Amino acid sequence: MKLAIRAALALLVLFLAACATHAPRPDSNPPLILVSIDGFRADYFERGLSPNLKAIADAGVHAAAMRPAFPTLTFPNHYTLVTGLYPDHHGIVNNTMVDPVLGNFTYKKSSELSARWWEGAEPLWVTADKQGVRTATMFWPGSDVEIRGHRPDYYLPFNGKMTAGQRIDQVLAWLDQPAAKRPRFLTLYFEQLDHESHDHGPGSTEADAALREVDASIGHLVAELEKRDLYKNANLVIVSDHGMAETDAERTVILDSIVDLRHIDLVTSGIAVGINPKPGYEAEVERAMLAPRGHMQCWRKGELPARLHYGTHPRIPALVCVPESGWLIETQEFHSRPNHRMHGGEHGYDNDDPHMRALFLAHGPAFKRGLSVPEFDNVDVYPLLAHLLDIRPEPNDGNPATMREMLQ
Ligand code: AMP
Ligand code: ZN
Ligand code: ZN
Repeated sequence: MKLAIRAALALLVLFLAACATHAPRPDSNPPLILVSIDGFRADYFERGLSPNLKAIADAGVHAAAMRPAFPTLTFPNHYTLVTGLYPDHHGIVNNTMVDPVLGNFTYKKSSELSARWWEGAEPLWVTADKQGVRTATMFWPGSDVEIRGHRPDYYLPFNGKMTAGQRIDQVLAWLDQPAAKRPRFLTLYFEQLDHESHDHGPGSTEADAALREVDASIGHLVAELEKRDLYKNANLVIVSDHGMAETDAERTVILDSIVDLRHIDLVTSGIAVGINPKPGYEAEVERAMLAPRGHMQCWRKGELPARLHYGTHPRIPALVCVPESGWLIETQEFHSRPNHRMHGGEHGYDNDDPHMRALFLAHGPAFKRGLSVPEFDNVDVYPLLAHLLDIRPEPNDGNPATMREMLQ
């Protein structure tokens, strides 16, 4: 009997020793930090104003560019990044939308709105949550909404007044929690560069200053991660949602000169324009809008070029118009408003427009070092993120082959 107990104890000791040697290594389940720098055009990287991003690229992976989804707007593309679906498939088809059942959506009030706007797809933090991965979102479109009954474990309602430094501090505070509470998937979002590029143009000194500033924030994040031995041991993926084209009030297509405004519902204007003809005026409005003209092209929703992957979702208006890069489509009334911006920047254009190209950088234990990869589509980011988290992805439009080249 004694012998049996001794043998059992010996086995237990052996088992515990084996557990110790096979305990998860600190890098076996590394955290994943997904950072979005709104409006960071791919070629901003070449301006020499972002040394911290350059250092990350030198030690990690940098894509020549990343092609956003159409329309090249903030909400559609952020949701594409975390679902791997084109906007036509995830349902956030514009920043402003009309749904036949749900009514109106404007991104400025997104968090107040019904989850049903978002439930056409399952974002990564929900899939991660279902598979036991703790999540934290320091802003991301959709992250302050309960989707399919789930929310991130930690999140804050969107507040544009929170500084970049405060956002980084929050991410670090989440990471500094004990292991049992620490999130493994985190997002971090910065919008100042997008604001300055809208207000002053992508080539402005203000945009350059915002670029330097966001780069300094990234430098601060890296320094703080290094202090925690996490720079080497966490996977960091830095993206943007779209680029920016320079606009000028002179380059405007005035809608009134094309169609009788009383005969349309203008769902969105500016860049990715959506028009619903009023009942009884369909043929007249189509004739006017579809006629070939300079600086703008319109399609019936089912007839957009296949490469745009856009046109089947019920929230897409009957007619979709896109101006030439750097042009705007506006009503005379809007165009004549006293506060109308004369010069600045916009996005939302065709995703083939080089000005709309986005940023992709990645660094960490999963990634090769000092690798440049060719341009790819932003739907491919989602399968990469799911792989990094070691979770089963939802069905998506991404190509998993894109990530293979980048990974160690
Ligand atoms: P865009 O006009 O497409 O460039 O939209 C960018 C703006 O969307 C940002 O400047 C923010 O003000 C706003 N925004 C970004 N994320 C969120 C969010 N999660 N909730 C509400 N508004 C947001
Ligand atoms: Zn944006
Ligand atoms: Zn913007």
